[in-house]
Amino acid sequence: MTTSLISMGGNLGNVAQTIDEALQHLQRTPGIEVIKSSSLHRTKPVGADAGAEFVNAAAMLETSLTAHELLDRLLAIEAELGRVRTIHWGPRTLDLDLILFGDEIINDPPRLRVPHPACWYRRFVLDPLTEIAPQFVHPEKRTTFAELRGRLLVRPLVVSILGDHGEIEALIASMQPEVLHVNLRSLSRPQDVPTNDDGLLVRFPMNQSTSHNLAAFLPQLSKRISWLDVSNHETDQRQTLVDILRSVGL
Ligand code: AMP
Repeated sequence: MTTSLISMGGNLGNVAQTIDEALQHLQRTPGIEVIKSSSLHRTKPVGADAGAEFVNAAAMLETSLTAHELLDRLLAIEAELGRVRTIHWGPRTLDLDLILFGDEIINDPPRLRVPHPACWYRRFVLDPLTEIAPQFVHPEKRTTFAELRGRLLVRPLVVSILGDHGEIEALIASMQPEVLHVNLRSLSRPQDVPTNDDGLLVRFPMNQSTSHNLAAFLPQLSKRISWLDVSNHETDQRQTLVDILRSVGL
């Protein structure tokens, strides 16, 4: 048997009821037992087209299924409960994510990645998760979910951004008046990268010479706990930053 954590959320229809039904579907599945579930958390949507307020929750399961079988079950339940999904990040009746599967690290993109790659910085995942499993350890970050969440509660939160200096400076200048409780910093030189592990470090797309400068530092950077690489995101940088700030609760 493996202990697994899942997160649940939606913003269309009666989400509280949909989450309750999803838990019943899981409980009725052979090989799955729902051990506990969190209270419902209401959160502002992340993403430009996300629509109304979200309701999020988390649950702990014991299962004899494999991670892939559990994922398939989650996707089937999403479909059974009438998920309507026309735009990425858009409104949805129910989103079920597999956050943790024992202490396994599964890298089978795009089908399955565990721990869920965004679970460590999304407050709408961490808040309910911390309620039911604060001391569970994230096997890649090697720290507890309570600790991962606690790091995001510091105010002002220092968010350092690696990228093309000119672009990032302009982005910060346009954002800073709007965002409160956050200290945005642009980093373009390796020697500017903070050596302590405080705050959040985000890597944006960067030109070749900047990335060449940073290459030598990447192994050291990737050891940082709060290190988020969005250098492959094709969406606009401002929206990406807005989404990140909202995800971490700012
Ligand atoms: P989304 O609904 O945006 O969370 O994406 C769903 C897709 O992500 C599914 O088709 C899954 O195959 C894939 N996926 C990859 N890793 C996970 C995970 N840990 N939990 C849920 N879905 C995942």
